[in-house]
Amino acid sequence: MDHAAAAERFVADAARTTWHDASLWMVREKRDRAAASVAEWEALRDLASAIKAHTLSRLDEYLVLFERRATARGIRVHWARDAEEHNAIVHGILAARGARHLVKSKSMLTEECGLNGYLVARGVEVTDTDLGERIVQLRGEPPSHIVMPAIHLKKEEIGATFHEQLGTPAGESDPDALTVAARVHLRERFLFADAALTGVNFAIAETGGIVVCTNEGNADLGTALAPVHIASMGIEKLVPRAADLGIFLRLLARSATGQASTVYTSHMHAPRDGQELHVVLVDNGRSAQLGRAEFWGSLKCIRCAACINTCPVYRRSGGYSYGSTVPGPIGAVLTPGADLRQYAALPFASTLCGSCTAVCPVKVDLDAQLYAWRQVVARAGLLSPARGWFMRQLGAMLARPRALQLAGRISRALLRVVPRHVTRHLTGAWGRTRVLPEAPRESFREWYRANRRGEG
Ligand code: SF4
Repeated sequence: MDHAAAAERFVADAARTTWHDASLWMVREKRDRAAASVAEWEALRDLASAIKAHTLSRLDEYLVLFERRATARGIRVHWARDAEEHNAIVHGILAARGARHLVKSKSMLTEECGLNGYLVARGVEVTDTDLGERIVQLRGEPPSHIVMPAIHLKKEEIGATFHEQLGTPAGESDPDALTVAARVHLRERFLFADAALTGVNFAIAETGGIVVCTNEGNADLGTALAPVHIASMGIEKLVPRAADLGIFLRLLARSATGQASTVYTSHMHAPRDGQELHVVLVDNGRSAQLGRAEFWGSLKCIRCAACINTCPVYRRSGGYSYGSTVPGPIGAVLTPGADLRQYAALPFASTLCGSCTAVCPVKVDLDAQLYAWRQVVARAGLLSPARGWFMRQLGAMLARPRALQLAGRISRALLRVVPRHVTRHLTGAWGRTRVLPEAPRESFREWYRANRRGEG
């Protein structure tokens, strides 16, 4: 997975890059205003982070407690070690009931597990019912963002897709008209579904219940109509008590979209009469991440996408450049654990500016983890030979003040005489789009010695 090469394809369309950047920055600003409206915001972040750290430190106990309480309420709990097991469990539930039509609300976990393709290959029709997810599904694409799956598309492109797939008039790109067309199309799917699958935002160990947050009500419609409800959740989605929930719900929507709360927050604590409710608890690499001293904190993540919206690299390179289900800073710390060799480039898809860490509602130290992954990648010998050599030389020079001073003196002298096209070439892709400032005659250290030494 070469993030830089994939990003190059996205930025080749300068207009798309510009509005993609602007759209996500608008969401980031809404998040800032929403956070600023809550006086105790920082205290909530501290509390949420502490609750998650506590839960993860006793995850085994809380999972068993959740299973016990859920089972007592008539929920059937399943355990899946990996994606394959998860998919087989879901298919087994559907097959046992002869279910051929599944409506699915947004669930990045099922994307991670490749559930759609698995079920379709076994004769089950899967309809994603979140509008953004349905759009990308109709285009045969994965989501490019975990909260706004079709953020990379213009309304004209969505209009063209709907014209081809749903028969809307050619050239129709009015968002209201397209939404009505999607609603009519999805209503039919809801009515004839044999089963509904949802993600899980939070599961409560104390009560054995689950909580699903959406803005479109699609999860509720699906689960209210279908005789079977399957809820797929990563094992890190637990909170210990019902009383903890309010803290996370106040943080989640504000961090995600700047809303005070999601439009629908549904609490499911038992199957309704005549319905089956299944919860599939999925590990798929989470236990391994929990065992990594430097990276376990990434499991605190509540998938709000605030770090993604603020990331200057994500905003300008698009979600597909990451080649992983979860893009952006949180994707770049979760994914290398799954396959270090394949995703070795992702920890470098960051400026390490720390903006992601600053907005994270549960205080995942994303930039520190990205930096730590870089070292893991280097130790594993996965840096390109040129980068590895350069880093070693740079490290050696930075460790010797005299060598650094000498290099600075030589560089300043050279930069004044070497033509710009040569320095552009030497600084690679970074230098091609930047103008180097004129090299100063002296270093800061020299200037300080001459002008300020002994002051203060
Ligand atoms: S790491 Fe933090 S900011 Fe990023 S998606 Fe997770 S909770 Fe949100």
